[in-house]
Amino acid sequence: MQIKKIDVFPMEYPESNDNMSVRSIVVVRLEASDGTVGWGECISIFHEATASITALIRHGVGDVVLDKDPYDIEAIWEALRDKVWWYGNVGGIAALAISAIDMALWDLKGKLLKLNLSQMLGGKLRERLPACASSHPKAATIDDMALELAAHIQNGYQYVKVGFGKKGHANLGVDQARDVSFVKAVRSAIGEKAGFIIDVGAKCKWDIPRAVSTAKAMSEYQLAWIEDPFFPDNFNAYHHLRSAVPEMRVGFGERFFNLQDYGRLLDADVCDVILVDPGRVEGITGMWKIFRRAAERNVAVNAHTWAGALNTAASIHLSLCATNPILFELKPAPGIVQHELVTNPVEQREGWVYAPEGYGLGADVIEDTVRKYTIEI
Ligand SMILES: [Mg+2]
Repeated sequence: MQIKKIDVFPMEYPESNDNMSVRSIVVVRLEASDGTVGWGECISIFHEATASITALIRHGVGDVVLDKDPYDIEAIWEALRDKVWWYGNVGGIAALAISAIDMALWDLKGKLLKLNLSQMLGGKLRERLPACASSHPKAATIDDMALELAAHIQNGYQYVKVGFGKKGHANLGVDQARDVSFVKAVRSAIGEKAGFIIDVGAKCKWDIPRAVSTAKAMSEYQLAWIEDPFFPDNFNAYHHLRSAVPEMRVGFGERFFNLQDYGRLLDADVCDVILVDPGRVEGITGMWKIFRRAAERNVAVNAHTWAGALNTAASIHLSLCATNPILFELKPAPGIVQHELVTNPVEQREGWVYAPEGYGLGADVIEDTVRKYTIEI
């Protein structure tokens, strides 16, 4: 068996969970000599990244997989890393390109072997995870946002996670007193039992005193964790925050690219929950290495999966096989790359998330949707 064809589809779409802003994924299709097909995606988000990843795959990186045996994923993954040594083995765009190809390799191998991803990773350690609505609120007032978030809990979700510094009218992460009032109002609206996470994110430039005082003020509202309050390499700031507010768990990592990055993070011992995206960290192969390293350190893991349905399917398999996951995030509003890209999107069922049935990722791609949203590069 050999891989005979690789196609790349740069997709742009309006994201219903992000105030209809245009976002991107790059989808890869691999075809084996017997006609079996595997699909993968990376989370490129921005047009310039999408164009660059597409060019990398079309003009060199994609050639690495041709004529290779699709069962040899680890060897192909090493060859992909070797290919990008000059411009990418420290992370960046090349890691995203490798991610899409690697994800498609696992899908293809699973379909050939008639195994799902969980089975190939060694088996699930649990059948399901609590569902978390990963939300960018649309409303402008605290009371309306609290109602918006409470609706997710009423719809079955066990957790809500709220992104600060996002597009639209929410204006969260700007004014500390308003942020704390917001957290108080949401806790009151969702009840004591619901899980609640604040994701500070890249647009908020908090300094250490701001983060410490905010975390202290929010700690009485029982957050599961506070996420990404600082630039990811600023381990000193994270150390300071955890020392100053030990009652607040801290999560970050979604802006890292590979096992080397996460290895440094885990060595620094400054994080309670690491966020990892299979569409970014050199694919399923990269993410599984990171999850295994985290397991050695007893650190909780969380899939950062805020892109397409292939990423979500890969992420739930990885999370169910991981040693220390807490929950599983889903975008709560129906959207193109979740609900039109595959026939069987991963959804919460009475507050829980299960892996899809089927071989490989278990995601049945609708090729018409891929072609409809593919742009010219
Ligand atoms: Mg985040």
